[in-house]
Amino acid sequence: MIKDILKKAQLSQSDLVMLLQTTGEDRQELFRYAAEVKEKYVQNKVYLRGLIEFSNICGKDCYYCGIRRSNSKVKRYNLTDEEILNAASYAYKQNYGSIVMQSGELESKKFTTRITRLLEQIKDMSDGKLRVTLSCGEQDLEIYKEWFKAGADRYLLRIEASNKELYMKLHPNDELHSYKRRSKALKDLRTAGYQTGTGVMIGVPFQTHEDLANDLLFMQNIDIDMVGMGPYLEHKDTPLYQYKDELLPNEERFDLSLKMIALLRIMMKDINIAASTAMQTIDPQGREKAIEVGANVFMPNITPCLVRGDYKLYEDKPCTDESPEDCQRCIEARIASVSNDVAYGEQGDSKHYVERRK
Ligand code: SAM
Ligand code: SF4
Repeated sequence: MIKDILKKAQLSQSDLVMLLQTTGEDRQELFRYAAEVKEKYVQNKVYLRGLIEFSNICGKDCYYCGIRRSNSKVKRYNLTDEEILNAASYAYKQNYGSIVMQSGELESKKFTTRITRLLEQIKDMSDGKLRVTLSCGEQDLEIYKEWFKAGADRYLLRIEASNKELYMKLHPNDELHSYKRRSKALKDLRTAGYQTGTGVMIGVPFQTHEDLANDLLFMQNIDIDMVGMGPYLEHKDTPLYQYKDELLPNEERFDLSLKMIALLRIMMKDINIAASTAMQTIDPQGREKAIEVGANVFMPNITPCLVRGDYKLYEDKPCTDESPEDCQRCIEARIASVSNDVAYGEQGDSKHYVERRK
């Protein structure tokens, strides 16, 4: 029976809720089928994106995030242009094919021009070959266009929770944190021409299985090109920490995250799906398990060691004291352990994007 449901052309909200609750043999069947879909549509290979967390300075105050503006305990940093370019150059030389530049959200002329300049320099340094994903929050369409023109290829902006009421419980109720603006930003990114990525946190307080099923349908409806999603992990210096005793146990958040990845792979066969770092926080083999059930993107952290510990979105973030070289060796072993190949030298564009742009 599970097999028949999994093969339906369109999974309904109630199918998804049921599948998110599977256990035992049914759960295994879900994972087996997702792995089969992955192999058929995107093959058993994993694209690398060197992750540069270039600044933890943020103008926003999301209730869940350790580097939110109001957390005065955070030591703020902003890498120099040279440090960012060195990291990008490391990724290029290691044949990663692409990088992700992520930061807190800032809206200023100075920030915009700096990113534009860096994009141009990175494209120059790599003969236009290194693909760049930005993850710098909500910006105006004009700015998204400017960055796209300067060489950004992809943009990651998680919707965090597609249910507006839930979104409002996770963010302050003001203009800066409006659900409407975040949804519009996602549309604008598509208009500007990006390979557009989104995602949600799994296991946040107040979230139901129905919410998660709707998150998957939301991603399908907006025809997203790439997704990064993973478990919510608490940080003691954030407002959401007060609900820590009401959360699902970590193992359940992890299990739900694996099922979300597997289901999304079945629903959107040719998109790129990342194995998030948060998965490894709960389970030392978390990212490998995500790759086994459908993820095909791995983001080795290439942020300089000195500041890594200061990009602390949640407690116990892993890999904060390893050098990029340590990461490199570790990744190869991890990916090989689940019989996938590292796609060195491949830019790894989302096949879904390539198809829709034809
Ligand atoms: N500032 C940009 C933004 O919010 O889109 C990009 C950087 S932000 C740190 C990247 C992602 O971290 C967010 O989209 C959010 O989903 C995730 N994140 C923040 N706090 C988290 C937490 N406590 N647990 C899990 N993920 C978290
Ligand atoms: Fe800032 Fe992003 Fe954290 Fe929100 S999730 S506080 S925008 S860094």
